[in-house]
Amino acid sequence: MYQSFIGLEVHIHLLTKSKVFCGCRAAFGDEPNTNVCPVCMGYPGVLPALNEEAMRMSAMVAKALNCTISPKTWFERKQYFYPDMTKNYQISQFASPVGVNGYVDLEVGGKTKRIRIKECHLEEDAGKMVHAGNVTLLDYNRAGTSLLEIVTEPDMETGEEAELYIQQLRRMVRYLGVCDGNMEEGSLRADANVSINLPGAGLGRKVEIKNLNSSRFVKLGLNYEIKRQAEVLDKGGAIRQETRLWNENRDQTESMRSKESAHDYRYFPEPDLPPFIPDAAFLAKVDASMVELPVAREKRLCAEFGLAPGAASLVCEEKPLADYFEAAVHEALLLDLSPHVAAERVYAWLSSDVKRVMNRDKIAAEGMASMRLSPKRLASLVSLVASGKISGKIAKQTLEAVFSDDADPEAIVKERGWEQIVDPAVIGKAVEAAFAADPKAVAAAAAGDQKITAYLVGKTIAATGGRADPVLAGKLVAEKLSGEK
Ligand code: ADP
Ligand code: ZN
Ligand code: MG
Repeated sequence: MYQSFIGLEVHIHLLTKSKVFCGCRAAFGDEPNTNVCPVCMGYPGVLPALNEEAMRMSAMVAKALNCTISPKTWFERKQYFYPDMTKNYQISQFASPVGVNGYVDLEVGGKTKRIRIKECHLEEDAGKMVHAGNVTLLDYNRAGTSLLEIVTEPDMETGEEAELYIQQLRRMVRYLGVCDGNMEEGSLRADANVSINLPGAGLGRKVEIKNLNSSRFVKLGLNYEIKRQAEVLDKGGAIRQETRLWNENRDQTESMRSKESAHDYRYFPEPDLPPFIPDAAFLAKVDASMVELPVAREKRLCAEFGLAPGAASLVCEEKPLADYFEAAVHEALLLDLSPHVAAERVYAWLSSDVKRVMNRDKIAAEGMASMRLSPKRLASLVSLVASGKISGKIAKQTLEAVFSDDADPEAIVKERGWEQIVDPAVIGKAVEAAFAADPKAVAAAAAGDQKITAYLVGKTIAATGGRADPVLAGKLVAEKLSGEK
């Protein structure tokens, strides 16, 4: 058996409004070549200027990854020729990345595994090449947009761990609001490096799988590659250092180019940009824009409300959902529910009926804060059920009415006369009506048929328009049945 080593290089598009070294708009999907200027088109004699917003977002990510923020950071020119890059060099960071020496913790098989982050550095993206038939078109809207590259040490061992790392990183940058994490649009893409070796022999010769645009492909590509390399070594062969691509139609990696001689990019400091020194004011701004990170939030929700880990992880999948959840729980606490009951019931609603309505009405997590069912209204609904004022069934109807009428649950229940009936005399009449309507069922129930008894309870509740307290209805039906014997 072999030991495997995986290191990932993830590129994220920062959500800055303008590009990283010029004032052009940074947006996905605009008319090609409309967001360009002499700077990002690489005209001679133009001067770049650093977008400080990109630096702030980069520092936020570095901090969230437990990196040390470099006290002085600068840019280098990385020289190479390619048609999607008009300057013939890319402005990137080499000797002094924004952040270095961090880590993230992954939960793998019930254990915590620490993945070291080597560095994160800020750079500009290249343009986009569109291959159409036998011509290639170039769209430079993306040229010069801010890209942050996050590089791990080769600390992962399986495709599954790498997939988890990407998912966790994606959730984190979305929480920070610095990247939309949209992998299909290329806002987050990964290069995966992998090698294998005999146990104890250290790193093997690495193969890089480039441009993976889904966390599943990262997993599949790496696991395929680990198996392929093992087969080569088993046969006494040697691994070629090369760059490969994942072919999603054939479920395999394929060689793109060999990488025997490392590129010589002739990095040298960008003479047109001064070094950036994060001063106290800048660092304070970074601190102020940090938010509680999803992993910490999951743990807190479990500790504070006794929420099950699985539930906490679902709630924390998206920040707007977690924000909504906590707001609703706090409203429910104001209505005198215990933290545990409040959290459990709010979660139950969010994971079932609310989710169903959101899917039906195409409300995304981002839209939760402004949907008709406000956190306060959900808390009222929870409290109405908990206090026995309405039944669970009526609660579902009330939920629908909140969405259709944009009204408070209490008002809906009151207006429509949906309060639960707890008066034994009123329910008793309904029991009588149900019994009178179906003497055969009564006989069967009296003879001990539990199913038919439940059926009679259902009929009783239906006779009250669904408003009878189900426990009381059950009790009265049982009493009346024992009288029938
Ligand atoms: P390069 O100079 O080829 O870009 P780096 O040293 O910058 O290589 O590493 C790029 C990525 O590859 C990092 O994520 C690193 O952890 C990973 N890596 C480096 N060497 C190996 C190896 N032998 N096996 C697996 N991953 C590796
Ligand atoms: Zn520009
Ligand atoms: Mg590298």
